[in-house]
Amino acid sequence: MTDQPSHLFYQSRNPRPFLDRGEGIYLFDQSGKRYIDGSSGAMVSNIGHSNPRVLAKMKAQMDKATFGYRLHFRTEASENLAAKTAQMMPEGLDRVFFVSGGSEAVESAVKLARQYKITQGEDSRWKVISRFPSYHGCTLGALDLTGYDPLTQPFAPMMRGMPKIPAPATYLDRDNLTEHERGLKYAEMLRDKIVAEGPDTVLAFIMEPVGGASTGALVAPDSYYGRIREICDEFGVLLIYDEVMTGVGRTGRFLAAEHWGIIPDIVAMSKGFGSGYAPLGATVAGSRIVEPILDAGGFQHGFTYAGNPMACSAGLAVLEEIESEGLVANAAAMGDVLIARMQGLMARYPFIGDVRGKGLLTAFEFVSDRDTMEPLPVGLNAFSQLVERAYERGLIIYSRRTRGGAAGDHFLLAPPLIITEAQIDEMMSILTDSLDAFAADAGLEVEP
Ligand code: PMP
Repeated sequence: MTDQPSHLFYQSRNPRPFLDRGEGIYLFDQSGKRYIDGSSGAMVSNIGHSNPRVLAKMKAQMDKATFGYRLHFRTEASENLAAKTAQMMPEGLDRVFFVSGGSEAVESAVKLARQYKITQGEDSRWKVISRFPSYHGCTLGALDLTGYDPLTQPFAPMMRGMPKIPAPATYLDRDNLTEHERGLKYAEMLRDKIVAEGPDTVLAFIMEPVGGASTGALVAPDSYYGRIREICDEFGVLLIYDEVMTGVGRTGRFLAAEHWGIIPDIVAMSKGFGSGYAPLGATVAGSRIVEPILDAGGFQHGFTYAGNPMACSAGLAVLEEIESEGLVANAAAMGDVLIARMQGLMARYPFIGDVRGKGLLTAFEFVSDRDTMEPLPVGLNAFSQLVERAYERGLIIYSRRTRGGAAGDHFLLAPPLIITEAQIDEMMSILTDSLDAFAADAGLEVEP
């Protein structure tokens, strides 16, 4: 297809080339140029592109039926996907509500929490505490939980203004605490906030177990996770894990929560759940939460496309692929390789201030000074400049500039979970060339 005036718009005009096809970790544009999908799109394509086994299973479903409205029919695809999801989730998270994306999964989690508390006679609870910075979606309800000013400010008058606590921005913290103490310090901020708001008004706390676009793969100290669970239990506040990005193997466990042995009350998932084969997400909870709602007349919420057989056949094929190919274990192993390679770059590039992540959700962050962690000057536009240098060379990475709480220019490397060590080396070689080009343009020092 040639360039012609476009009737389509997104956040901005789209100058990118036309996509032709995908294959494993690679994407090809219509000129035949190859790109390593180093960010799985937006941390979506966990099983890689154009997997023939998945396509065959989807095709088999499509040949039979692409849509059957859930109030008119049950479908094997949705029942089987719900059962498979329950089997792969931690114990007790076995009731599944399907949606078509991450924002819908978060909205559904919050509304499920609210309806559950109503069944318990706790109608006074409606506040959902979240963190700053954070990202939970762009629909108005999910946006109200999101801590990222450029996205929220234009719409602030249209939202309630849900209470926020700081996300653990631990590497920027200049206190003299141990990691363990620092984790507890940030967790206590939740307790203080619940008390200040009035415990009987607080419905839930929502958090990304590993930061995504918001903080750039920031992992809290281990002590944080358990203490947050205790605090929620102390006040009867439901704990919602937003695993839209971290779920389905991305961090080297099926859910990131498993790293800390946490069982959240409700989990929101999407992205890797459909892995780019279908718009799909899920809100998952235990029967303890779901049954009282069903007994009381049902969940007053639902999207038209929920549980459609086409998307569910894709989701089931994706989970089968994750399982049969051992992709969760591969994400853990390859994540270690990737982090080590990224740490290796720090010797050459003094402006890489931090390397972090879990499994194949990793990031590095730019600074002008490693001691002070001062960000690079805004005028350098590092976050977009490096992305462009990499894109020219056939590597896709994902960046944000979100200082103001946690992170400056950070770059997510989150390739499909099928990646091999040789492919990581290929990716790092393009990244090194791109960093050299970026540094030369920006006038930044590089060690020989
Ligand atoms: N929560 C998290 C943690 C996310 O990363 C995202 C998407 N980046 C969302 C929610 C929203 O998902 P979607 O864009 O599919 O609505």
